[in-house]
Amino acid sequence: MTRDVVELIGHKRDGGELAPDELQWLVDAYLHEDMDDAQMAAFLMAGVIRGFSDDEATALTQALLRSGSQVDLSSLAGPTVDKHSTGGVGDTTTLVVGPILAAAGAQVAKLSGRGLGHTGGTLDKLESIPGFRVDLTPDEVREQVGRIGLAVAAAGPDLAPADKRLYALRDVTGTVADSALIASSVMSKKLAGGAEHILLDVKVGSGAFMAETATARRLAERCVAIGTSQGRRTAAVLTQMSEPLGPAIGNALEVAAAVAVLAGRDRGPLRRCSEVLASAVLELTGTDAEAATRTVSEILDSGAGLEKFRELIQAQGGLTAAVDNPWAVLPAAPVVEDWYGQPGTLVSMDARALGATAGRLGAGRSRQGQSVDPAVGLEILARVGDEVVSGRPVARIHAADGAAARDAAASLQRAIVTGNRSVEALPLVLGRVGFDSG
Ligand code: URA
Repeated sequence: MTRDVVELIGHKRDGGELAPDELQWLVDAYLHEDMDDAQMAAFLMAGVIRGFSDDEATALTQALLRSGSQVDLSSLAGPTVDKHSTGGVGDTTTLVVGPILAAAGAQVAKLSGRGLGHTGGTLDKLESIPGFRVDLTPDEVREQVGRIGLAVAAAGPDLAPADKRLYALRDVTGTVADSALIASSVMSKKLAGGAEHILLDVKVGSGAFMAETATARRLAERCVAIGTSQGRRTAAVLTQMSEPLGPAIGNALEVAAAVAVLAGRDRGPLRRCSEVLASAVLELTGTDAEAATRTVSEILDSGAGLEKFRELIQAQGGLTAAVDNPWAVLPAAPVVEDWYGQPGTLVSMDARALGATAGRLGAGRSRQGQSVDPAVGLEILARVGDEVVSGRPVARIHAADGAAARDAAASLQRAIVTGNRSVEALPLVLGRVGFDSG
């Protein structure tokens, strides 16, 4: 069926709603070069301004999903699960939650991406472990998950290829931060990944796509509605991203931070958020909430999660010494400098700016395809509400050279604000969507 592209764009511009077959046709036309970038960008911008309905978001998801293949996990025994973050700073949770879930008996086939902009990517983090291989074939992923319960691999080119093209276009046309577009983009990839149980970790705050709880909740509701309509048990947790979650931003630094949590040495916010997320996934699979929480903390306290991380690293060719003595094998930056803030109460941290600072140090990329420096980044040693005293560092800069460290220090000066009033610590969890209880 042939349609008039300009007419469909005009319909959206004038506030109309497109039917599922019209959205499918537009996505196909764009993929097959019957619609150019300018036309798709105009359509997306019209939709961002006028709004997409829930039915449009679902239809768009299906069109993106159908553009590629789907992973078949039906041969795996045990519940197949996936946990996805909408993107944050110092968000090391996948490295902690994946091993916990596998240790709890779930099957975790995690297809991940690389970092872009101010957010980090799980693949970049794992690749800082010497030898770690992320380019597994679908058969290798299935075999490994069947054997140890966990695999973390690069999402192949055939996983929702239309989303890859659309996302790259949205990235340069100011059309990323829309709940329907983000939901359809994320959910097309989650559905293609094949898990029966999907938990979205929707980040809220200065380092997230959604700065406000209300818009983050709308995104969570849309993701949950799409997943549920496609027969997957789907729920979301809204979590804080107005300050970096973990104590590290940067690839090797985040692997070391994950190991510290899995080994029971770090009981701070990264552990607490990982516990919330892992328990929520187990709840989705039918475990009662209290039992899920108990199971997760037992896995952390017994070291079973750390052992699962070791199995993952071994299975994917990495040096397992990363678990026993991380800095014996992880790459370390040549320049490490402490950064001290103005004494007072830590009033706010601009999480996005801190992510961008780590990116400029070399930990991230501003364009797809750039390489990253696994060694560099930031340690964040204080949290909002803490007292900053002279002589105690607030952050530690890991840089490739002195000039990069000085540039980072100037950015920290702007991103971390202290003052003379008391400030409450920020709550870690801001809401739940799609659970039977609350
Ligand atoms: N992550 C995605 O995969 N897609 C979006 O649109 C935004 C974040």
